[in-house]
Amino acid sequence: PTMRPEQLPEDVAADTRALRPQTLDDFIGQAEARANLKIFIQSARQRGEAMDHALFHGPPGLGKTTLAQIMARELGVNFRMTSGPVLAKAGDLAAILTNLEARDVLFIDEIHRLNPVVEEILYPALEDFELDLVIGEGPAARTVRIELQPFTLVGATTRLGLLTTPLRDRFGIPTRLEFYTVDELYEIVSRNARLMGCPADPEGAREIARRGRGTPRIAGRLLRRVVDFAVVEGDGRITRELADSSLTRLGVDELGLDGADRRYLRMIGEGYGGGPVGIETLCAALSESRDGLEEVIEPYLLQQSLIQRTPRGRMLGQRGWQHLGLTPPRNDTA
Ligand code: ADP
Repeated sequence: PTMRPEQLPEDVAADTRALRPQTLDDFIGQAEARANLKIFIQSARQRGEAMDHALFHGPPGLGKTTLAQIMARELGVNFRMTSGPVLAKAGDLAAILTNLEARDVLFIDEIHRLNPVVEEILYPALEDFELDLVIGEGPAARTVRIELQPFTLVGATTRLGLLTTPLRDRFGIPTRLEFYTVDELYEIVSRNARLMGCPADPEGAREIARRGRGTPRIAGRLLRRVVDFAVVEGDGRITRELADSSLTRLGVDELGLDGADRRYLRMIGEGYGGGPVGIETLCAALSESRDGLEEVIEPYLLQQSLIQRTPRGRMLGQRGWQHLGLTPPRNDTA
């Protein structure tokens, strides 16, 4: 579980220790998104209006929730948070929307998993700040219109492709979050180590950053494990040797891949001669869910060119073969 980017309880605990950046200037990385948001926030403030709706998309653990919270703070408004699967009925969303104050930020995580009925009532809310609710059933049913305070919806999704087009079109500010560079993760790790009272040598922090899978949530988790080893088995300092030996013991290799990643790569390489192999076949062979592969495992492997996605399925990339220490078959038709 160390390397899975989904949120775990220990991540939440870490965030309550004030490791989560609080302002746009504290937020490291995502330079482009940050620069744009800064302008939109300032403009909304100067005009005294709700900021336009924003959609954050990208793999889990890259800072979508964090950025939304920062937006609310910098806009000087309340932050409300919910998620697609939690909003089962139209009334669930109506209850939240009617409680918003003017210009508040409403964050809906996993917005690609909204119930279509709920999504339907969200459209007029986003466009005209109006809710059309049907009250009663059968011939006695009637529609009431409720005026809402203007608000900003921030939607987050790991699967942009699963959003319906009408929903996508209602976001004025679509923003793609990218994997972090090693330098950016290095800054995050160094800062967090300092805040945790366990300073890291530059080379120690860099080793953790290199193995953080481009993901602050994972880098943060690796740091916490290395701190454990530093406290118990070392002298409390995070050195390169200590980081390296701790992470190797946890099964995190020099590219930051864990057992599940390597199993996936080996399945394509050894099980299917390097591919192409269809995603459904891979899911069955690995007993993994398709969502798990597509949202969690594959994005980083693709970004690192360890695999390629082709119309005929997944293929092991040159780097993937190298990483596994295998030689690609010679009758390569690709
Ligand atoms: P997402 O919503 O994309 O899954 P979160 O916003 O929950 O990701 O962030 C995951 C973790 O990484 C949190 O613990 C957060 O504090 C940390 N984090 C994310 N982005 C940054 C950043 N730019 N700098 C420092 N920490 C970050």
